[in-house]
Amino acid sequence: MAVNNPETQTVKLQEYFGDYGGQYVPDAVKPALDEVADYFNRYRDDPDFNAELNDLLKNYDGRETPLYFAEALTKHLNGAQIYLKREDLNHLGAHKINNTLGQILLAKRMGKTRIIAETGAGQHGVATAAVAARFGMSCDIYMGAKDCERQKLNVFRMTLMGANVHPAGKPGEGTLEDAVGAAFADLAAHQDNTYYIVGSAVGPYPYPAMVKKFQSVISREARQQFLDQIGRLPDAVIACVGGGSNAIGAFANFLDDKEVRLIGAEGAGKGADTPQNAATLTNGTVGVNDGMKSYVLKNPDGSIKRTYSISAGLDYPGVGPEHSYLKDIKRAEYFPITDDEAVNAFQLLSKLEGIIPALESSHAVAQAIKMAPQMSKDQVLMVNLSGRGDKDVQQVANYLGIDVE
Ligand SMILES: *Cc1c(COP(=O)(O)O)cnc(C)c1O
Repeated sequence: MAVNNPETQTVKLQEYFGDYGGQYVPDAVKPALDEVADYFNRYRDDPDFNAELNDLLKNYDGRETPLYFAEALTKHLNGAQIYLKREDLNHLGAHKINNTLGQILLAKRMGKTRIIAETGAGQHGVATAAVAARFGMSCDIYMGAKDCERQKLNVFRMTLMGANVHPAGKPGEGTLEDAVGAAFADLAAHQDNTYYIVGSAVGPYPYPAMVKKFQSVISREARQQFLDQIGRLPDAVIACVGGGSNAIGAFANFLDDKEVRLIGAEGAGKGADTPQNAATLTNGTVGVNDGMKSYVLKNPDGSIKRTYSISAGLDYPGVGPEHSYLKDIKRAEYFPITDDEAVNAFQLLSKLEGIIPALESSHAVAQAIKMAPQMSKDQVLMVNLSGRGDKDVQQVANYLGIDVE
């Protein structure tokens, strides 16, 4: 169905961020993407759509999430005051549900009955399976064959919630890139009844702008919470960057507040200057991958680099196009955080605040640990705590050589 009501067409989604973004996909999937863009432009400011979304965010997801003053961590670091935006308290333990709830409501408006998604370690697959279950839609998740082996519990979680999980790529080898390819092929073949829920602020237009919109609830709440709690905005907002969805959501409503520094923490693995890292904005070059133009980590022969980070959610060779743009125009800054620094932050926050952060989020905490002591005591830092760390406890024990089997 064509959308041609001029009143609902006034606020257009952004296709390009500077030169980044766009829609670099085979012609076969363009109609499906254009249909998503049309519907999103039509419903993004629709009162009924937003009322339904806000009700789910409140009663299903548990929003709003607290803005918590980390007093003990602040005292320990003896510098800037640190506030945690508690996205770890969302349903399923991370920010990802903010996005999957928004997109499944759109799928419903579009009359779709079948949901597909790609997933790396499985967190986005779980958040997608949950909303598909909630809305009674059939759900097929593509996951790299090797990731299926490594993340059996997440495969079982998805299955419990009624999803079919399809290993992508060669047995024992397939990873996220294979899953993305399989999901787009499925979309091209089944676009009449199928909606593809993309999990981060990446991919072809309209996904980067749409995922930003759904994740911007983070900074919409946080900005107001700062004004209510301390009567001012923070001096800096810090978030980890995998594809960049929790970061762009945490930045969105501060973009126009030029006095607020926006800081991304990337997975530097064994070190940004070693072969084993996932620091796309630190080490990448401009290229096209996963349907978008953005910074990307490539080998000298132009193929996509195999990345490494202790944190599965940051282990991705690309990054959302808006982050590439924000880096170039110097509105946001991006810093590499190593595995060691992240694991130290994981332990310190657990010990001082009784909050076990996700390994992804621990990268943002580590950046705060570096910055806060350099700042004065009347300055304020927000750390977006994108998820809880229960899923990572076993891995951290292994990393530290502690036997918990
Ligand atoms: C998936 C995930 C991330 C990384 O994804 P972004 O799109 O960069 O936000 C970060 N933190 C947690 C807890 C995650 O599950």
